[in-house]
Amino acid sequence: MGALGYAKVEVAAKKLRELSPRVDVEPLPLALNVDNAEDLVRNVDVVVDGLDSMTPRYAINRACQKLNVPYVFGAAIMMMGSVSTIIPGKTPCLECFQGNLDDETLPKCSVVGVHPSILGIVASVEASETVRIILGKEPLLKGRMLHCDIGRMDFEKIDIQKAENCPVCGSEPRGSPMTLQRKQVVELCGRGGKRVFLVSPRKPLELDMEKLRLSLEHEGYEIKVKGDLGVTFSNPKNGLGSVLRSGIVIVEGLQSEEEAQGFSTRILGNT
Ligand SMILES: [Zn+2]
Repeated sequence: MGALGYAKVEVAAKKLRELSPRVDVEPLPLALNVDNAEDLVRNVDVVVDGLDSMTPRYAINRACQKLNVPYVFGAAIMMMGSVSTIIPGKTPCLECFQGNLDDETLPKCSVVGVHPSILGIVASVEASETVRIILGKEPLLKGRMLHCDIGRMDFEKIDIQKAENCPVCGSEPRGSPMTLQRKQVVELCGRGGKRVFLVSPRKPLELDMEKLRLSLEHEGYEIKVKGDLGVTFSNPKNGLGSVLRSGIVIVEGLQSEEEAQGFSTRILGNT
């Protein structure tokens, strides 16, 4: 959900179209996972990371390695951020230098927060690397990682090495790549002290948005925003909820993953 209740992907598409009217923008209201990563990456020139957890990044990394697509990795938490440009066959892959991280044990921005400035820095550096790739210039963070800490105002470039025993890209892989769990419910960054959960359907749906709105109103929810790719409604007990056309449900103010799953099943039950 964007600030006005529109799906984030819809707001992003609108902004990009306003910035560059001659660019075709195709928003996909999907949650990236190990099952759809290859389909999403196929035939693209470059992938730019705006993800917020490691599991979908590993899925992207593997798809990019397999399909030979450059991947501009970027991540941020608290006041720290890092960026590296991964060129399959030429540089280390993500799992050479940041493999085997379990999202469950990493600090979450819903708990520790992230400073808006570091997001701006990481995003701008990623954009500049992406433009270099598109123009056929050498990316400057190829085989290197830029690490920034605005809590100390440290900016450091670190050379990173390919791990020859990397299970994804190594010449002598050791073991098989870490299994990527496809979680149906994930917790997003909290809003105003409320927990926010995202529930994905097993397979993307193609919901009839008008039917969905009628069913939500019938259930007593007040529709706040009617977008092309999603609808946002208020739930008197908790706060806002959204349903995207692909069947993704985002809900505020519930206490557990189970509760969020139950809520999603109820909402989608009638459509
Ligand atoms: Zn690797």
